[in-house]
Amino acid sequence: METKYYIAVHRDDKVWKRSSSGGAFSAITDAWLAAYGEKASIYGCAFDGELNALHIRATTAAERNQMCGSKYIGSNTTGVYRDVARDLQNGMHVCFSGTPCQIGALKSYLRVAGIQPEDRLLTVDFICHGVASTRFFRDYLDVLEKKYGSKAISCTFRAKSRPERRQDIQVGFANGKSFLSRSTRYDWFYAVYFRNLNLRPACYGCRYASEQRCADITIADHWDVKTFYDKAKSLLLVSTPLGELWTQKALADMDWTEVQHQAQTSIQSRKPGDYDAFWKTYLEQGYFAAQKLVGNNTLAGKAKYHLVSLADDLHILSALKKIRILLRR
Ligand SMILES: Cc1cc2nc3c(=O)[nH]c(=O)nc-3n(C[C@H](O)[C@H](O)[C@H](O)COP(=O)(O)OP(=O)(O)OC[C@H]3O[C@@H](n4cnc5c(N)ncnc54)[C@H](O)[C@@H]3O)c2cc1C
Ligand code: SF4
Repeated sequence: METKYYIAVHRDDKVWKRSSSGGAFSAITDAWLAAYGEKASIYGCAFDGELNALHIRATTAAERNQMCGSKYIGSNTTGVYRDVARDLQNGMHVCFSGTPCQIGALKSYLRVAGIQPEDRLLTVDFICHGVASTRFFRDYLDVLEKKYGSKAISCTFRAKSRPERRQDIQVGFANGKSFLSRSTRYDWFYAVYFRNLNLRPACYGCRYASEQRCADITIADHWDVKTFYDKAKSLLLVSTPLGELWTQKALADMDWTEVQHQAQTSIQSRKPGDYDAFWKTYLEQGYFAAQKLVGNNTLAGKAKYHLVSLADDLHILSALKKIRILLRR
């Protein structure tokens, strides 16, 4: 079928707040749970107690809620495709969410196992910039744990505490303290992630970054400068009749509009020129040396971060952002 595109935002504020964009994932999986009850299972990425990302299985909304929110690191899927196969063989209705390459891997697994799930398997992927090295993320957390004197117990890559910020990392610690990154540009995780320096090798020139989607439904962020201060919205791309059926059910919980073709599906992340130098430094000299190489762990980098933090405290950053957005409209 010809791809259909929707922009949507969940009506329930609580759901919207825990989601990275407009809450499409929750709306789709709520509809799935409501339709199939005890015969429904949902697979997606959650954090364990050590903040490792891994795929889990859920049969209730509470379990599913652990999957909400983007984790920008690779998710461990060990044994998960086998579990999906077992669910399907037992007559369950499975909604599987993950990166496009995970959807591709699941479909290959089922094909080899001779399982034809028909409409008992709904696949949901997202437009994928790439996943970062888990080792790098662990080093990022270790530094914060030392600074805050406590174990990191939660991490939100897309905290929605400030309307003008779409990429705030928030880390919660066992002692009740919490870290909120001051600036995407100078945050020690995002500064490296958005320069594509710490993505998994397979993410560069990813073959799944294409208009031809592997999943029934693709969810993504809808960025629009005109509505930047409105609630973050989801973009849904629907590629199959099964996807359209469940999208329509999900949209019942959302404010939505159907739109024309959106071009962002085929953007591939490129390997930057300083990739090899970055990894050589990181592997041979460690995290701080790698951060120094990208300009974070230097006197100038630290001074900039402190200046940005001060400007943030004085609300100068949000004022500048508002002016920039007004000028771009
Ligand atoms: C690594 C990554 C890169 C992304 N890159 C882009 C991009 O370049 N452009 C864009 O428009 N959108 C991107 N997204 C998608 C976007 O950020 C939202 O995740 C998506 O719009 C869903 O938001 P939501 O509000 O519907 O629900 P949410 O509740 O935020 O959805 C969470 C969903 O993401 C899945 N998920 C979270 N982390 C992972 C992970 N590490 N591995 C596999 N599945 C995961 C969960 O299983 C669940 O299905 C990316 C997401 C991730 C995780
Ligand atoms: S960019 Fe491609 S290879 Fe990397 S996680 Fe996303 S889908 Fe997989």
